[in-house]
Amino acid sequence: VKITRTIADLVTTLEPLRGGSIGLVPTMGAFHAGHLSLFDAARKENDALVVSMFVNPTQFGAGEDFERYPRSEERDLELAEQAEVDVLFAPTADEVFPPGFQSWVEVENLGRGLEGDARPGHFRGVATVCLKLFNLVRPDRAYFGQKDAQQAAVIRRMVRDLDVPVEIRVLPTIRDEDGLALSSRNAYLSPEERERALALPRALATRDPERARDLLRDLDVEYVEVADFDPSVLAAAVRVGSTRLIDNVVLEGESP
Ligand code: AMP
Repeated sequence: VKITRTIADLVTTLEPLRGGSIGLVPTMGAFHAGHLSLFDAARKENDALVVSMFVNPTQFGAGEDFERYPRSEERDLELAEQAEVDVLFAPTADEVFPPGFQSWVEVENLGRGLEGDARPGHFRGVATVCLKLFNLVRPDRAYFGQKDAQQAAVIRRMVRDLDVPVEIRVLPTIRDEDGLALSSRNAYLSPEERERALALPRALATRDPERARDLLRDLDVEYVEVADFDPSVLAAAVRVGSTRLIDNVVLEGESP
């Protein structure tokens, strides 16, 4: 795996790979099996695999966990090596958002409600960084997890609305053996909190908002809602201690 930290180095590194197809997996690092499943799919479906690793400050609100977000670059490098990632793009915040940056992508309706309401400005940051990555890497396909269902819907719509020439692939949520959806933020949970957090997948598994709300009554619930994404999902956000967790299950149609 070749590590690039500047846009200039990324562009030069990608030059010889342009003869074949390129798959891109945007991430914030701290890899787990959810990320690895995206790498695997992208590896199989493309000639070259590019992974970006960037804890994007513009998608975190004031008072959120930007500073303490898990960072584990050495281990990530090993996992990227094992997953046969060709190019890892790990820029600094200034490289992506230099002084004077002032152009943003807003996906209006899909970016509202659920996470959009709970985290004002979040999807503006996500959509903008993804468009920049699409413009820099020019991938044939980009891979996202159904775990972040609203994010996937926002990115699909942005690509459609702005005629970005990339195929968006959304893959199923990977869960731990106990049912908890894998997330870099699970590292924040104490064993006792993790036990309580299991109410989240159990509640969503009912696929019924009323029953789910009832099963979540002992947790600090931000929302439990059916969302009309494509596919529709039952989505929830809860706080367990100081950790905010989101999860969803697909309600209709094909997986994910
Ligand atoms: P993150 O590094 O958390 O921004 O996630 C990078 C990508 O991995 C996003 O497209 C996420 O939706 C996806 N992802 C995160 N957790 C999971 C999971 N448990 N299963 C599948 N995909 C996931």
